[in-house]
Amino acid sequence: MTPPPAHQIAVLSQGRAAVFEEPIGPAGVRVRDRPSTDPDPGAVAIAVRAASINHLDLFLAHGAQRVTPPRVIAADGAGVVQASGDPSWKPGDEVVVYPVVCDWECEWCRSGQNVRCARFGVIGEHSDGTACELLHVDARNVFRKPKGLSWEETAAFPLTFLTAWRMLTTRARLQPGEKVLVVGASAGVAVAAIKIASHLGARVFATSRSEAKRKRALEIGAEAVFDSSEFSKPVREATDGGVDVVFEHVGPATLGESMRSVVLGGRVVLCGSTSGVKAEITMPRLDDGQCGRVSGGARCHRRRPATGGRQRLSACRRPGGPGAARFGGAVRQSRAVGLGQMRRVR
Ligand SMILES: [Zn+2]
Repeated sequence: MTPPPAHQIAVLSQGRAAVFEEPIGPAGVRVRDRPSTDPDPGAVAIAVRAASINHLDLFLAHGAQRVTPPRVIAADGAGVVQASGDPSWKPGDEVVVYPVVCDWECEWCRSGQNVRCARFGVIGEHSDGTACELLHVDARNVFRKPKGLSWEETAAFPLTFLTAWRMLTTRARLQPGEKVLVVGASAGVAVAAIKIASHLGARVFATSRSEAKRKRALEIGAEAVFDSSEFSKPVREATDGGVDVVFEHVGPATLGESMRSVVLGGRVVLCGSTSGVKAEITMPRLDDGQCGRVSGGARCHRRRPATGGRQRLSACRRPGGPGAARFGGAVRQSRAVGLGQMRRVR
């Protein structure tokens, strides 16, 4: 990350906290006690009622995120405001945390495109995390807890649901009635994608290696499910030639099959790459005369390689076009959560 400006409000984990101390897996995360302080001006101190972990935390615990310990883990959390250095919030307010680190001041942040901030990061990876008793965050990271959700539900949804929302709406521009294939349906972000795509009126298809997970995908909104091995042919047969959008987060193990599953003019959106960091792409599927150029994509926060440089994925754009529009075999990478999405989810 770009070093923060001196006045940027730091995320602080206080009280008892789960601290990543050694890159040896979960055993390297230990409970420690930290002193508690009052929040600085502009910050809110939240008594955490529930925090949740993502696969990101496992990567981190194994040293795959190249995070230098100590680091309090977890991006997602919800709780009750204990003290506030900002008039927007008062003690007793029930809130959920927007799990992003940014400077809130650059052109991108001011326009609601926090994901493009040069100082963009994820709480619990690029700063202290929510797995603690008292969390200090910038007041702009705080949102009112949805009344219909329990503490656990509130703390479980932000990172995965915001990522999936941005991928399906901002990036893929998924429309009602379109067909979307969600790969690796057992992952949290994939479950979020199935629910969101169903909510948006799309026809949802899903893959999983697990029969139990395929059954679960049907229960939460998928129209049909497929085993993860060589799924493109049965997907094309079941969808009258292919899907409009593929929701990808697995990477090398499935990307080829994903690209064979889309119709001409379809879109493949990606986040993370849980099966590895290098994938082969069959160029004719990209370079079909509709894709003007292929450029290095934005960085991906979900996983960085244990060796080699920062992970990069390709993104395609029409020449001169505003963002990635639709073209044959388009591959887009989502840079996960965005504030605009948080507001819309609420
Ligand atoms: Zn910014």
